[in-house]
Amino acid sequence: MAHKFDVVVVGAGAAGLFCAAQAGQRGLKVLLLDHSEKVAEKIRISGGGRCNFTNRDATPAQFLGENPHFCRSALSRYTPQDFIELLQRHSIPFHEKHKGQLFCDRSAEDIINMLLAECDAGQVTRWQPCGVKSIKYGSNPDGTGVSSYQIESDRGLIEAPQVVIATGGLSIPKIGATDFGYRIAKQFGLRLVEPRAALVPLTFDGEAWVPYAQLSGLALPVLIETSPADATPKQRKKAVVFSEDLLFTHRGLSGPAVLQISSFWREGQPIRIDLAPGVDLPGLLLRAKASSKKLIANELATLVPSRLADAWVSQDPALQRPISEATDKALQALAQRLAGWELTPNGSEGYKKAEVTTGGVDTRDLSSQTLESKQPGLYFIGEVVDVTGWLGGYNFQWAWASAHACAEALAARAAA
Ligand SMILES: Cc1cc2nc3c(=O)[nH]c(=O)nc-3n(C[C@H](O)[C@H](O)[C@H](O)COP(=O)(O)OP(=O)(O)OC[C@H]3O[C@@H](n4cnc5c(N)ncnc54)[C@H](O)[C@@H]3O)c2cc1C
Repeated sequence: MAHKFDVVVVGAGAAGLFCAAQAGQRGLKVLLLDHSEKVAEKIRISGGGRCNFTNRDATPAQFLGENPHFCRSALSRYTPQDFIELLQRHSIPFHEKHKGQLFCDRSAEDIINMLLAECDAGQVTRWQPCGVKSIKYGSNPDGTGVSSYQIESDRGLIEAPQVVIATGGLSIPKIGATDFGYRIAKQFGLRLVEPRAALVPLTFDGEAWVPYAQLSGLALPVLIETSPADATPKQRKKAVVFSEDLLFTHRGLSGPAVLQISSFWREGQPIRIDLAPGVDLPGLLLRAKASSKKLIANELATLVPSRLADAWVSQDPALQRPISEATDKALQALAQRLAGWELTPNGSEGYKKAEVTTGGVDTRDLSSQTLESKQPGLYFIGEVVDVTGWLGGYNFQWAWASAHACAEALAARAAA
């Protein structure tokens, strides 16, 4: 005998837990299953353990995907304020850290416990660990002539008229990420946008990186963009520029600045970094030349971190001299290179370090109102969809908003 539910949600991460809870609270009999023993491992490790659960200022402008308007409907119907009010109802303390980013005061466990309590309030049945072997759509074996989804799981056959896929992207396979959602999408004839690791550190050729590897651990505020110096004015106008902290690592660059730009970067393309934003480097260096006897490296160290100044100057013998002996042209060239450091990554740290996956289920095959696919009764929510947020709480906001839109649609379809 098959287990019968109104809805089966596959994947008990951020989107799956929230959708199951919302659907359950709308009176549906919901089964939520996950192949991992623990639910919501990504919430647990997110935001350095404190979960940056939303961004006060989230708008569709902070999301990427082939159709940048797709996220509009869901985001407008479940806002950051709605999620904040949910936290307040559960008396969870939180604070704003930076640019609208909201974090738990205590730990990410608060969010997980809240979502589990919301699932309990909706009488959601949870099975985990429980893998799914196959999902088929067709006539029920009971001979009633009614069609539904038959899900072959590790705990037996399940039947449901509606199925939600909330299995996320490919990032961090060691805590349970799989391509399950993409495979199900393909099986039902839906299109996919090539997935890519994003919000991820970028790496550089070993040889070329030698002078900078010694800077590992150094962090500084920068402006960063993908647009190369020879970009046309039109390209430059469209380029995305982030003002964030950069972090040097042994293998390359990381920190919020690089994670942000990694979502836009493509193989072979240079990135451009202003290492001293807001500083009039040429003016200050030329003024120092007129009045100082110090070495260029020492003068530069008053304008950028001294480790960076040393590493930079040590690569060019012409700069290893007192600033008073440098030509104006050499100082101007130095200033220009620091303000427009252009370098081409050879790759990224990949899915093992990426916070998210861009691409996924093609939004042309999904409804932006309901997240239902063109296969009736089959929905995709959260990161498995080709909607990716910037760093800063936007990805969780998409998980909540897409889950909420889907839960409304599940209830409406069940009632129809
Ligand atoms: C280190 C790190 C830090 C992050 N920090 C933040 C942050 O602070 N703020 C923010 O907004 N975003 C953050 N993110 C991104 C955010 O975690 C994700 O965008 C979000 O969790 C996506 O939610 P989801 O429910 O779609 O997928 P997930 O949360 O990934 O959940 C998917 C679930 O599906 C399950 N699953 C997968 N395959 C199967 C299968 N075959 N069968 C059954 N179950 C399956 C998984 O076990 C998992 O429980 C971070 C990500 C990482 C990796």
